[in-house]
Amino acid sequence: MTNPGWNFDNSYARLPESFYTKMNPTPVRSPKLIVLNEPLAQSLGLDAEALRSEDSVAAFAGNRIPEGAEPIAQAYAGHQFGYFNMLGDGRALLLGEQITPRGERVDIQLKGSGPTPYSRRGDGRAAIGPMLREYIISEAMHALGIPTTRSLAVATTGQPIQREVELPGAVLTRTAASHIRVGTFQYAAQWGSAEDLRALADYTMQRHCPGIAHDDDRYLNFLREVIKRQAALIAKWQLVGFIHGVMNTDNMAISGETIDYGPCAFMDAYDPATVFSSIDSQGRYAYGNQPPIGGWNLARFAETLLPLLHDDEEQAIKLAEGALADYASQYSRHWLAGMRAKLGLVGEEEQDQTLIENLLEIMERVGADFTNTFRALTLNKQDDEALFGSAEFAEWEERWKARLGRQQASQAESQQLMRAANPAVIPRNHRVEEALEAANRGDYGAMERLVAVLARPFAYDAAQEQYCALPAGATRPYRTYCGT
Ligand code: AMP
Ligand code: MG
Repeated sequence: MTNPGWNFDNSYARLPESFYTKMNPTPVRSPKLIVLNEPLAQSLGLDAEALRSEDSVAAFAGNRIPEGAEPIAQAYAGHQFGYFNMLGDGRALLLGEQITPRGERVDIQLKGSGPTPYSRRGDGRAAIGPMLREYIISEAMHALGIPTTRSLAVATTGQPIQREVELPGAVLTRTAASHIRVGTFQYAAQWGSAEDLRALADYTMQRHCPGIAHDDDRYLNFLREVIKRQAALIAKWQLVGFIHGVMNTDNMAISGETIDYGPCAFMDAYDPATVFSSIDSQGRYAYGNQPPIGGWNLARFAETLLPLLHDDEEQAIKLAEGALADYASQYSRHWLAGMRAKLGLVGEEEQDQTLIENLLEIMERVGADFTNTFRALTLNKQDDEALFGSAEFAEWEERWKARLGRQQASQAESQQLMRAANPAVIPRNHRVEEALEAANRGDYGAMERLVAVLARPFAYDAAQEQYCALPAGATRPYRTYCGT
């Protein structure tokens, strides 16, 4: 049996035992590899050809444990839509941490690999559609320059699973800087000992911010670092119109990566109230709510750290509040810088924020497509009559051009800035659905083409144009689903 390059360490399994359950995946009938991320494999130090061997395909389906892996289901808790629950990997297993040729430590996780002690009423399985959906969207996010878990492979199991209808089962192999969540800290704070919580905090710091792991104020600095990363991350989501859809505290990674691609989708027409998830009827996780929800989740995280911040609870709360108070301004700073780039604005003028907000207001009023508006402005190709033909836009454009005229940067430089900030292609909902429908019939061509286009979102080449178009004809509101 040849090793394709697995080089596992299992440091998480050296934490106190309450943090996980050691167990193997449940074997499946007939594993078949349907997609493999070769560039990612290579960066992990894995040989793509060897990963297509029968043994490796068996490993991607959970029928074989790769050399050196010690599979565990991770325990965690979380606030789901505001309500606190015990959760944990109900259909996932961490195989271990691949140490890459560059010395990085990357979690390798199987998702859909069978039930665990944390499955509650779930079957531990996943359907092919949602696993391919995670593959497509997480890889698109990576190409957009947004920190994210990634997708290495999807294998079908040869076993149907029961949802509303019977669906083909599949296992996704995903990579992450780690799978430690706000909910992991909530689990430790709620049910662990003081030592458990400290062990988790020390471990996580060592893994994600080793530079501060020995500071005197390390736990406060850790909190500040996590806040800083979320402020930057959520600003990036807003700037491309990404709607996570289920920002429960168990779906917020301490590493600052986007995690858990369930009901997520990209906004089409600009509207801060946009919600795609079928179960988010209150709009808790609407596009415009993502920044404040990030703050809410971080407050839950800060609460778990209180015993580590200071022996005196009142002092601890003061320290936590001080750190949390910076979140909103950090977020706004990232957002404003990003929006300036989207409009080609160099330097800072006091009126910039108003200028940006005014454009968004017009876009909202006419229902302009978020991505295509910025693409059109970048290309100076004003093709949306409802927006670009309006008197309001003409007035706004005059102010924008005047602002551009006042800056040192040349027109070409400004356009370059816009091209680097405004993706020409995003995973459009109808394109994702079309690819998944074909995949459900065993045809992976549409998905492969889509993945290839999404890997170069800033290329602005002619071949991509068909992926920029909105769906023809009236479409029903797009709906996405949890627990798929
Ligand atoms: P999510 O909505 O994906 O964040 O999942 C919330 C919780 O439900 C996590 O603990 C998951 O592991 C668990 N879960 C989701 N789907 C299943 C399933 N099919 N079987 C068992 N557990 C599941
Ligand atoms: Mg989750």
